[in-house]
Amino acid sequence: MNQTPAGERVHIAFFGRRNVGKSSLMNAFTGQELSVVSPVEGTTTDAVYKAMELLPLGPVVLIDTPGLDDSGELGEKRVRKALEVMRKTDIAIVVADGTVPLGEAERELIPEFERKGIPWLLVYNKEDLAEKVSADEETVLPEKGMAGERTLRVSAKTGFHIRELKERVAALVPGDVEKPLIGDLLSEGDTVVLVVPLDAGAPKGRLILPQQQVIRGVLEAGASALVCRDSELEKTLQKLVSPPRLVVTDSQVFDRVGRIVPESVLLTSFSILMARYKGDLAQLAEGAKAVERLGDGDRVLICEGCTHHRQCEDIGTVKIPNLIRRYTGNKQSVCEPEFSFTSGTEFPTDVSSYKLVVHCGGCMLNRREMQYRLERCREQGVPVTNYGVLIACLNGILDRAVGIF
Ligand code: SF4
Repeated sequence: MNQTPAGERVHIAFFGRRNVGKSSLMNAFTGQELSVVSPVEGTTTDAVYKAMELLPLGPVVLIDTPGLDDSGELGEKRVRKALEVMRKTDIAIVVADGTVPLGEAERELIPEFERKGIPWLLVYNKEDLAEKVSADEETVLPEKGMAGERTLRVSAKTGFHIRELKERVAALVPGDVEKPLIGDLLSEGDTVVLVVPLDAGAPKGRLILPQQQVIRGVLEAGASALVCRDSELEKTLQKLVSPPRLVVTDSQVFDRVGRIVPESVLLTSFSILMARYKGDLAQLAEGAKAVERLGDGDRVLICEGCTHHRQCEDIGTVKIPNLIRRYTGNKQSVCEPEFSFTSGTEFPTDVSSYKLVVHCGGCMLNRREMQYRLERCREQGVPVTNYGVLIACLNGILDRAVGIF
């Protein structure tokens, strides 16, 4: 079984009107019956996700979206869900019915992908149907002469050009998918100490995803990872013949670890590494300072990137609010900010009423989705930070923790 996490996979989404054959095409693409296929319009009511290996791209997630021309109250809801998928799309496949002229949906989508810098392909399905309309593709393409390179005729029914479609998609590798998590900070032979407290909040029998990913990153760099709890950190450091290159800690014990690790040793946290990897560390570090200005009744939004199998337990709902309350309460006599919470794919488009947004590390989100969320905050002038960056700030060691980059 392939265990590459969804946040690390290239997200390839199929967009288009109802009944153009998006679901059949995705089934033909994967060689499996994943999406319900029916001649009835609007059969896909929610996005369908499928993880697979696509060479030479590697691990990907394919997403089948509801039709973009759906109407009525429910239809509009489905369209909104389809457009939400755009936030995380690394490669877009615009599916058109090759037997009818292009519609509004295709005409609007392609410039939108161009604007967002999302690589796309326009695919005419139903090639098997004898009566083909000559598609007016040149009118939707940003440049003349792109037809050969950006369009393809296929048939989900007969399998015509499905292999070519996979090859064309695989060639559209997005430029910013690969970003180092930790490897660029290390040299071969380095030792990294990872501090992982196993308190009641830690999941049973496993390490959480950011910890697994950092260990993998250390190994890929040809360095060694030494993992210990915060209670064993002092002894672990004493046993080393020479100081480690870097100590990476869980944010929750930042304060304690910061006092143990000598100033001469680089120190950061899993969340800060994640902030750099998926987000914009400078924006998140600046955002953390907004906690200083929080007053009574100010709205704070706390966002988690997943709902099921949550790995961060009550950090977002209990620990972070308490830390903020304690910090602001120490500075002002009465200070009780108002906390709101979102999780999973939920993220408000309007964040302007918040004085601060605090996001989790976002290990289950892909980089594009994280960038979308940061952009919403940036354009509405709302400070945003993440758990680890905020905790480092509240403990007065933010400069040290981000100073290593
Ligand atoms: S809450 Fe955020 S950091 Fe924690 S597991 Fe979910 S996506 Fe990852």
